[in-house]
Amino acid sequence: MGKVVVITGASSGFGKATAELLASQGHTVYGLSRRKTEHGQITFMQCDVRDFETVKRVIDSIAAKEGHIDVLVNNAGMGIGGALELATSDEIAVQMGTNFEGCANLCRATLPYMRRLRQGKIINISSIGGLMGLPYQGYYSASKFAIEGFSEALYAEVKRFGISVSLVEPGDFATNFTASRKNSQATIDDPDYGPVFKGSLDIIENEENGGLKPDRLALVIARIVDARNPRMHYVVANLEQRLSVLLKRILPGGAFARILCSYYKS
Ligand code: NAP
Repeated sequence: MGKVVVITGASSGFGKATAELLASQGHTVYGLSRRKTEHGQITFMQCDVRDFETVKRVIDSIAAKEGHIDVLVNNAGMGIGGALELATSDEIAVQMGTNFEGCANLCRATLPYMRRLRQGKIINISSIGGLMGLPYQGYYSASKFAIEGFSEALYAEVKRFGISVSLVEPGDFATNFTASRKNSQATIDDPDYGPVFKGSLDIIENEENGGLKPDRLALVIARIVDARNPRMHYVVANLEQRLSVLLKRILPGGAFARILCSYYKS
């Protein structure tokens, strides 16, 4: 049976690939993003996930039209690169507001409809950066750690209403994420941080540009949409990055931190 699915960040990357795949499988897909995009089978709605009033209006209108919302995929996101010390208040607000508060806004607006019917699925796109603190991507990591904690708590609060919560933790994928990253000018200009930041950014951008294709992640999300009992965590990454997640779990904290420092030459 086709489900009613809402996906944020559907104008590009994972969101676009997922929206297209789910629509081709017969689901009714609503794509939310700031840019309005056209795609025959997807209904696009303009929405900045940071703005709760707009989010609520959009979700209320979808629920009014469809009568229910079965699946919410919180995917909208962006990255800010730079030294933690040199970030501006605006940069921190944009990073946390888009990635974390955006996810919370969509959940707050959609849960009343799911709870009323005692069913639903929430799929939150985190990152491997939400499982380990990445140097010079610190606020990005913090926003994804926040999504991890939020999702674990939400799982425990809404399980008894028949609502599942899953976290998808991608490694590096080739999307517009790399080109959209905002890099801190203060860090670039700083004699202490600048050269090291540039070196770590080169490593990250190379990995992203040579990363997996977003269709692969879309397939995992489609499997979660179909699953009777979805898991809580789905790490989707190449072998090396899956290994890093395993090492983070089993090594003493200091030993793992030293490996990260040496990998990113920080
Ligand atoms: P992308 O191609 O840049 O897509 C990002 C999407 O988010 C766009 O559709 C963008 O649409 C939307 N977006 C950004 N800010 C928004 C806002 N304020 N309100 C509404 N929509 C907003 O990047 P992607 O790689 O597909 O990223 C999707 C998610 O995957 C993000 O949460 C990212 O952190 C996560 N992720 C990516 C990677 C990777 O390697 N690519 C790895 C791990 C996790 P508009 O600009 O039109 O609003």
